[in-house]
Amino acid sequence: MNALSSPTVVRMIAALTDHRDINLLEASLLKTVADLFRPDWAAIFHLGNDDAPEFSTRLRDGEISQAPGPESFAELIGNPGVTSFPIMSHARKVLGYLLVHRTPDISADEQALMADLFRVYDNYLAVLRDSQIDRLTGLLNRRTFDDQLDRALGLIRRAYQEDAGAGSQRKIDGGNGCFFMGEIDIDHFKSINDRFGHLHGDEVLVILSRILRSTFRKTDLIYRFGGEEFVVIVYVDDRKDAGTTFERLRRSIENHAFPQVGKVTVSVGITEIRNTSFPVELLGRADQALYYAKTHGRNQACFYETLVADNAIEAYHHPGST
Ligand code: GH3
Ligand code: MG
Ligand code: MG
Repeated sequence: MNALSSPTVVRMIAALTDHRDINLLEASLLKTVADLFRPDWAAIFHLGNDDAPEFSTRLRDGEISQAPGPESFAELIGNPGVTSFPIMSHARKVLGYLLVHRTPDISADEQALMADLFRVYDNYLAVLRDSQIDRLTGLLNRRTFDDQLDRALGLIRRAYQEDAGAGSQRKIDGGNGCFFMGEIDIDHFKSINDRFGHLHGDEVLVILSRILRSTFRKTDLIYRFGGEEFVVIVYVDDRKDAGTTFERLRRSIENHAFPQVGKVTVSVGITEIRNTSFPVELLGRADQALYYAKTHGRNQACFYETLVADNAIEAYHHPGST
């Protein structure tokens, strides 16, 4: 292979680190692979829960696609002319594979260059992951909530719009479930800090995040929204299912013996994520339900929709909605 000029290398690294979105990073990696090696095709597979490779992103004919092709990982890797590169975590665990197919084969020099490129990719991925996570609790942070909610709402709106003609209420993936958002706020947390000190307050936040993780499914999204406030987005069968889930959380926290501090309770405001929702409207509705829970005894989970139907609160009015 010809030696690459410095400007070319700099341009490649710049292209690889263009995005601040982890979901777009793989596409950048494949584009860089395309520039460097001019392959016939390249594909990324992740190792799933049972360590079976699952298709993630593909490059073919200069196009990046996330629609799985017909061939399995086993069929692709068996092809002559395929070079496989493991994608490693920082702890040197194999997370997946990048497969590159080219005639002639990728040379040893090119493989070494690819290994260096992977180091840039890995380091940048680690930095991005770090910036999405709250340091104290390890949960997703507020910034990630803002980024992901915008995108998720866009997807949900599109799913509803596509179906509007058919007049059906199909949700994402054709499933019959729906999304709910719960805003969780620790009751009298200031007094916990005042009585037991800030460090014990921090410990309560860490233990509570563990209870959150064990209560919700892996696919649900849990964020530390601010100081002692958390937001969870769940995909459930219906409102009853959402109620059961958040009630289970409330009870687990109430029944947990927190070291030193003893009993801790939370109030929760829940709202359905519907097709018309703007982030600010969603948060406004959950806030109203949370405020109601706080002013009516705390240690309870309240649904915005139920409160409005019961005339307990007025419907939220978002200036941008009709
Ligand atoms: P309420 O039941 O109405 O929610 O009362 P509260 O005391 O929980 O609410 P308030 O908003 O008055 O107080 C929240 C407290 O959370 C104040 C702040 O010092 C504390 N806090 C915020 N972030 C952290 C943190 O990271 N660690 C600790 N230990 N405390 C925090
Ligand atoms: Mg609060
Ligand atoms: Mg509070």
